[in-house]
Amino acid sequence: MAYLIKGVSILGAAPTDLFIKDGVIAAPFEGAEVVDAGGLVALPGLVDVHTHLREPGREDAETVETGSRAAALGGYTAVCAMANTSPVADTAGVVEQVWRLGREAGLVDVQPIGAVTVGLAGKQMAELGAMASSAANVRIFSDDGFCVADPKLMRRALEYVKAFDGVIAQHAEEPRLTEGAQMHEGEVSTRLGLTGWPAVAEEAIIARDVLLAEHVGSRLHVCHVSTAGSVEVLRQAKARGVRVTAEVTPHHLLLTDELAAGYDPVFKVNPPLRTRKDVEALRQALLDGVIDVVATDHAPHAVQDKECEWAHARPGMLGLETALPIVLSIYGPQWELIADRMSRAPARIAGLAGHGGDLTVGSPANLTLVDPSARRVVDPSELASRSRNTPYAGMTLPGRIVATFLRGEATVLDGKAVK
Ligand SMILES: [Zn+2]
Repeated sequence: MAYLIKGVSILGAAPTDLFIKDGVIAAPFEGAEVVDAGGLVALPGLVDVHTHLREPGREDAETVETGSRAAALGGYTAVCAMANTSPVADTAGVVEQVWRLGREAGLVDVQPIGAVTVGLAGKQMAELGAMASSAANVRIFSDDGFCVADPKLMRRALEYVKAFDGVIAQHAEEPRLTEGAQMHEGEVSTRLGLTGWPAVAEEAIIARDVLLAEHVGSRLHVCHVSTAGSVEVLRQAKARGVRVTAEVTPHHLLLTDELAAGYDPVFKVNPPLRTRKDVEALRQALLDGVIDVVATDHAPHAVQDKECEWAHARPGMLGLETALPIVLSIYGPQWELIADRMSRAPARIAGLAGHGGDLTVGSPANLTLVDPSARRVVDPSELASRSRNTPYAGMTLPGRIVATFLRGEATVLDGKAVK
């Protein structure tokens, strides 16, 4: 299809016309399908470096297709699929399967993340080279859900991926310090009598890993940074020139541990919701660039795994369909910031050429159109995800994603998925 996006504001600039043809932003031509974009803002298609799609293994919670649809509706054109599936994505065969399922769904580019260790068990390094040279072209490796706690293994993995400019994405959680943890360790956990997950369990691993990455000269990415102390460790490492990048989730930018007081497991997540002071530090770190990207950690869970006692509920929240509205609610229409932290920087970290580019003639037409003046009440029954575990149910959020284009083909139009 060829489109004329009429009267659109690119990153908040004066309205203009944007032509799309043969998958790229084109020079003006006749005969395009007109999309009236008055009042809409165009952003480069969003890129998520941290998504759980649950396939293979837990198709009752999400599939590559349903997760891809949720992503497109959230304004995304590419997502990186975490490796903690069943079987684990620790071989070329499994990452190629996920990559192929993504191509078949055709709603976003699904870039598989490979496991660092066999079965996420933290004992033996997985076949990183085979995954990197597979059709899936894996560049990010992560045991997310678990920390690569063994420092020798972490060092070897960092050394190994250096050869092909890969990156290790660490779920920073010293496991001995979080045994039995149910929520953030602090005043609220004491009051509720729940075992705490101390901030230092995250900060200690990040401190260790930036030193390892510096020693080896390799790339480290820190998943879901959640504490003010972690921000300080990262700030110092970046000032020294360590090759470290970091992400923060929308929920850690918005919600606090006070929400655990109602024992509603929808607020149970790992790392846990922290304090107001942490939230403020994370918000500032994203502005400063100490934290590079917003990543969703979209974690769909089936009803029986989530709507149960707090202690037994799985940690995790949906994120893809609400990420941009949450970020807008916090930062307002800072389009340059949003484009950088939600598209350009994540595309760069993941090595996804074709995403996160400028919307100029000749560039791949990966973009999303947002109506910043619209407000929407989050209704879990309207989400495209197969799961319902959103912590934002009933909240009114700004910004409606009106259309998304993947290589010039509309995946979302009029706020609805095209297929
Ligand atoms: Zn994680």
